[in-house]
Amino acid sequence: MPEMDSEWNGAIAFLDRDGVLNYGSPNYINSPEELTIIPGAKQAIKELRKLGYRIAITTNQSAIMRGMWGEETIHAIHERLQEELGVFDVLMTCPHRNRDMCGCRKPRPGMLNHASHIIRGKSHDTVDWWGDKPKPIHPLDLMVGDRDSDMGAGWAVGARLFKVDEKIGIQQVIERIINDDPGDVFRPV
Ligand SMILES: [Zn+2]
Repeated sequence: MPEMDSEWNGAIAFLDRDGVLNYGSPNYINSPEELTIIPGAKQAIKELRKLGYRIAITTNQSAIMRGMWGEETIHAIHERLQEELGVFDVLMTCPHRNRDMCGCRKPRPGMLNHASHIIRGKSHDTVDWWGDKPKPIHPLDLMVGDRDSDMGAGWAVGARLFKVDEKIGIQQVIERIINDDPGDVFRPV
């Protein structure tokens, strides 16, 4: 985990993992061997870094609280992910199921806020799902995901929203990101 850097005020690219960087599976990704990077993801990450984004991966992995596997497995999978794509500024996992009622399972924004706090010492403290989309901490903050739960979490921190097809991943939207596209319109409720 990097040191908090409150001097840095740039934009964060919040990225979902499965369906954005690697192919997902209805049965979870259960080992490093099951991780297959989607073509174009490596180049897209390179482009984001070139543009000056810091990158925070936020992933829901309820297999953990379902008792299928534990921390060693997620660390091994994420080591492999970073061997393929380079080291990320933050890589955060929510291990919970819906019924655990945590604050980090997307669409709740706990992981994004925690990442923002780690990376630049600032985050949104509250979320009003029925209110207006909040102002982002940096106007170019963005969220890329393949599900509405990703869009919801990104909405809650005011990020530009880019929804992708789970078979195409981040390469589907990288040109839009490079061109400072305002992102998709999304209503969480
Ligand atoms: Zn959680």
